Amino acid sequence: MNIYEKKIIKEVENHKNSLIEFTRDLIKIPSENPPGNEKECQIFLAKKLKELGFDIDLFSPDDVKELFLHPFYKHPKTYIDRPNLVGSLHGEKETQYNSLILNGHVDVTKIENPDRWTHDPFGGEIDKGRIWGRGASDMKSGLASMIFAIHSILYAGFELEGNLYIESVVDEEGGGNGTLSTLLKGYTADAAIVTEPTNLNIMTSCRGGGTFRITVTGLSAHPSVKWRGVDPIEKMVKIYKSLEKCEKQRHEKGKKNILYRDLEISTPINIGYFSGGPSFKVTPSEATVGGWFEWLPDEEVSNVCNEISKSVEEVTKDDSWLKNNPPKIEFFREFGTYSPAYEINPRSPIVKELKHSYTEIFSKKPMVGGTGPCDARYFPLVSGIPAVIFGPGELYSCHGVDEFVDIENLVNATKILA
Ligand SMILES: [Zn+2]
Repeated sequence: MNIYEKKIIKEVENHKNSLIEFTRDLIKIPSENPPGNEKECQIFLAKKLKELGFDIDLFSPDDVKELFLHPFYKHPKTYIDRPNLVGSLHGEKETQYNSLILNGHVDVTKIENPDRWTHDPFGGEIDKGRIWGRGASDMKSGLASMIFAIHSILYAGFELEGNLYIESVVDEEGGGNGTLSTLLKGYTADAAIVTEPTNLNIMTSCRGGGTFRITVTGLSAHPSVKWRGVDPIEKMVKIYKSLEKCEKQRHEKGKKNILYRDLEISTPINIGYFSGGPSFKVTPSEATVGGWFEWLPDEEVSNVCNEISKSVEEVTKDDSWLKNNPPKIEFFREFGTYSPAYEINPRSPIVKELKHSYTEIFSKKPMVGGTGPCDARYFPLVSGIPAVIFGPGELYSCHGVDEFVDIENLVNATKILA
């Protein structure tokens, strides 16, 4: 580590308490999505960026007309009182040096089981070396670490040579229109880092994902003579089992990709809902499952859809009812949502820089891998910008009860980004 780097790292240490308090304050401002009440957090963040000398742009994705025509635009929706925030800090030699975007989303998922939390979801409590609360991991700690990285550089007395953009976007959890609209508004750079939770691993790729739905028709009957009907739920259980088998087979293939080999399931197929008949006292006439499946960047999506369809056909061919009443399978093309996969060149300068910074802090090599779908995909796919996902949170702590971030990870992420 050279003397300049040492000076910056010392400033991160000096401002460690402010970083922790800033993260806690951000967690204490709810920004659940739905409904998407991100505005108060955005005003809080804009104030901090303004103090650091950033030019502030608070704008609604609604004001970016290109958004609604873009193929990646998700669902017709409006963003009244849901501003994106982009802070721009212009470098002294902006035309000669590379520029960087640091991106994070400020919306958090809804609290589903408040009774099961042992910490106040909006309390920002500190316990066992962790900060607890909704968004602690996904991803208010990521936003805080990127802001305190530049905070430390400026407090160490340095100025940037290239441009830096700090983006706090809305509606990542709702599909990604926030980040998409920043790119379409013209905020581009030579590279981007998205500080989603990766437990300080460096992710150079993310999987694609899409929705699917399977409907099985049965024959309705009175429950006292249920043998006169055909129970579609029983058929669907067989299909469920077949999908599990398909997931296992896909994992065996997927783990050959070195970026995904360490995952328990390299390409998940998740059933999100299972619905059957209308009431207690009837053999239902229909059953439906809906779910989400993921694929690797080197896979053709239509082949993956075929694999899922085939696993349903496996059940159909051995069932006389299903042979005559084949299940209906729909993919995201017909309904629902879809996120394309991406991977960038692992030798990109931004990957090299992050790896170097990690090694300087930890004196060991970082883990480089791939992760699930997130906003990072838009940077390479829409604007050709190499994007890396790197942040202090942990994926397994997200979206559930008792979300947390390790304070040590928060501080180390800030040092590495600085
Ligand atoms: Zn996230």
